[in-house]
Amino acid sequence: MSLCWIDGKIMPSHLAQVSVYDHGLLYGDGIFEGIRFYNHKAFFLNEHLQRLQDSANAINLTLPYSLNELENAVNQLIKDYAKADGYMRLVITRGIGALGINPELCKKATAFIIIEQLGFVNKELRTNGAKLIIASTRRLPPSGLDPRIKSLNYLNHIMAKMEATHAGADEAILLNNNGNVTEGTTDNIFIVKNGTLYTPLISDGALAGITRRLIIDLAKQQDITVIEKTLAPYDLYTADECFLTGTAIELLAVKSIDGRLIKHCCGKITQELQKHFTLAQ
Ligand code: PMP
Repeated sequence: MSLCWIDGKIMPSHLAQVSVYDHGLLYGDGIFEGIRFYNHKAFFLNEHLQRLQDSANAINLTLPYSLNELENAVNQLIKDYAKADGYMRLVITRGIGALGINPELCKKATAFIIIEQLGFVNKELRTNGAKLIIASTRRLPPSGLDPRIKSLNYLNHIMAKMEATHAGADEAILLNNNGNVTEGTTDNIFIVKNGTLYTPLISDGALAGITRRLIIDLAKQQDITVIEKTLAPYDLYTADECFLTGTAIELLAVKSIDGRLIKHCCGKITQELQKHFTLAQ
């Protein structure tokens, strides 16, 4: 059964409630983190809490609990939840206000954490690799909403995901306004070309993914050259290997992009990084 920690109490998730006047719901005014736990231990919890604090600072939101208190809440939830592995969603919204977007009307931020199992990468997808499309929906430019803020505003990502589903694909890649690659709807993207690993720059419009960071570090430890640079759709179409990374999907090999088959799925470097990623858990 899924559990929820909400403002200090833990209860079955279906009993947890937030107000219809919560600005997270009314305006997407809030931030969140998705956190994995393996063997009863939260994975890269400090990094997630630090990113949460950065997102809060960037949108001028005062966290209603200290990072220490949130860490304790996460650990208490893991303890109460019977399973060794799973996923948590930590959400902080601007809180209860009135109709009207003014955040000043929200006196205290709302906080909750859901703990449950995630099932959206099934065995078949894991084995065969993902089919991607490049969406016509673009990533919001940093001048509109900095991609480093992990906010509750996912509408254009949702529309990109709808494009993927409509095309019979598993995931969509969003381009920025220059037509360069940013990331997937809820994941970062990597390609391998001639033995070198490439991933788009954060400044091109990607979230600074914690899994992305880990994969870069693991690759460097294995003496694989990693280059963060601007990538065009052409670079994806002509890649030797391609994979996605994210807390929810972990590391997922890519089979095709817009109908172009990736040369190796799952390729040698992808397999190597997958092995070390599993060891890190
Ligand atoms: N990009 C976006 C837009 C995401 O929502 C996520 C999931 N948090 C990621 C990338 C991957 O980030 P992380 O590895 O920190 O989960």
